[in-house]
Amino acid sequence: MKMSVFHDEVEIEDFEYDEDTETFHFPCPCGDRFAITKEDLENGEEVATCPSCSLIVRVIYDKELFVSGEVVEAPSESRLELLQS
Ligand SMILES: [Zn+2]
Repeated sequence: MKMSVFHDEVEIEDFEYDEDTETFHFPCPCGDRFAITKEDLENGEEVATCPSCSLIVRVIYDKELFVSGEVVEAPSESRLELLQS
């Protein structure tokens, strides 16, 4: 039986951020650490997993903050439309 039961819910502020790996860590009761990458967060992922046990935690964060934090360049097509109109 496989069920997604969260061990806990943790705010992203409580995670420790590793800039080298762009990964957020939070201590797991087993002695290892839960991990979720910045990329995961930007993709709307909210489950941090522990590599050493089966526990998972739900990450509480403002999705819009992470998604909009990415620089998205305006498509050049829309610029052309502006010029043509
Ligand atoms: Zn663990």
